[in-house]
Amino acid sequence: MTTAQDLDQDPDHPAPRAPQLATLGALDAAVTDCRACPRLVAWREEVGRVRRAAFRDQEYWARPVPGFGPADAPLALVGLAPAAHGGNRTGRAFTGDPSGDVLYAALHELGLASRPTATDRADGLRLRGVRITMPVHCAPPDNRPSTAERDTCRPWLARELALLRPTLRAVVVLGGFAWQALLPVLAEAGWQLPRPRPAFGHRAQVKLLDVSGDRELHLIGCYHPSRRNMSTRTLTPAMLREALAQGARAAGLHVEG
Ligand code: SF4
Repeated sequence: MTTAQDLDQDPDHPAPRAPQLATLGALDAAVTDCRACPRLVAWREEVGRVRRAAFRDQEYWARPVPGFGPADAPLALVGLAPAAHGGNRTGRAFTGDPSGDVLYAALHELGLASRPTATDRADGLRLRGVRITMPVHCAPPDNRPSTAERDTCRPWLARELALLRPTLRAVVVLGGFAWQALLPVLAEAGWQLPRPRPAFGHRAQVKLLDVSGDRELHLIGCYHPSRRNMSTRTLTPAMLREALAQGARAAGLHVEG
């Protein structure tokens, strides 16, 4: 039986592997092969075997979903984890599910996505100046990764943000889970966090300085565009667009509309 200790000593485990990766392309490839969380590996593959009736004729991705977007992005969007029948089916973040429908529509309205819809990895969608990623790269049961799974996956996010650092100016954080997951990563990466730690809120904006004090990173909170938040109108398309525009402007990107 494979134990947690065995996994920690595995050279392909995120903790030893991620810091060695020199490019986002290499990172994305390594993430895609990760099997460090036994519960999530079993779940993502089970969902891919059983499938939802509407997608029964499709081959599910059923692997970790890497980040998506250019390697020199000044703006990052950080979500939660892939959806079981969205990213876990299509292999791309927010692609093929209701959350992605509203997210990409908003990005397209702002001129940050080449098309308003995301259906599969071959749909031709391109992002301008935006990289989308997540603190947990595998679909979790009930959309709830455990604390241990979040921590196991953390080195992938830490490395992704380190590789984006030369151009990164702002991060829009989609939901409280991502906010809590991201703060320690930023602290470890040398960004100074205010004390007490800033609380998540929709359109809350916090400016972080790096240890040398000569670089800024803006964090902007945004409710997650989950089906529940959208159906209860906790988050409307207009609210989402405004928060994304706030992040884009903080990153120095021109937005339309
Ligand atoms: S959640 Fe992250 S660390 Fe866990 S198996 Fe998936 S990619 Fe690997």
